[in-house]
Amino acid sequence: MVKNNHSNRGEIRWGPPSPFAGHMSVALAEARAAYRRGEVPVGAAIADPKGQLIAATGNRVREYRDPTAHAEILAIRAACKRVSSERLPGYHLYVTLEPCAMCATAISLAQIARLHYAASDPKSGAIESGPRIFENRQIHHKPEIYVGTGEKEARGLLQDFFARLRKDS
Ligand SMILES: [Zn+2]
Repeated sequence: MVKNNHSNRGEIRWGPPSPFAGHMSVALAEARAAYRRGEVPVGAAIADPKGQLIAATGNRVREYRDPTAHAEILAIRAACKRVSSERLPGYHLYVTLEPCAMCATAISLAQIARLHYAASDPKSGAIESGPRIFENRQIHHKPEIYVGTGEKEARGLLQDFFARLRKDS
């Protein structure tokens, strides 16, 4: 299914994406693990051009005391290390939440071929929301973008997490 009824969404595609859409379930498992660690529950996974998973991580901002330790950044670092390259052309990144501006830029720098994200993030997202990084002329590499696989679970986890935070504070 390809739905593209918002002109400002550029090349974003909605619905079941690539042959490897099942990898989103790995990203969701990482988001659940992040939740259990007390981190904002976002998970990411990277598959090579053949669909083989080579990295899966969750958000570790609190654990690492590192504001850049978003799931996507950690997954890109792990994948680059694994394949001994600073770029990942032809690779697929799966993440449970719309990437922020930092992660979107990193995805471009890594030359990721396909970005899949589960839930949109109007607050901090930078793909269809806010700065819309991939519509910027200074961004030289734009991945294909697929949105919506696993959305319900990804959003549920986040809502749960923030509801619990509010209750505890
Ligand atoms: Zn980010």
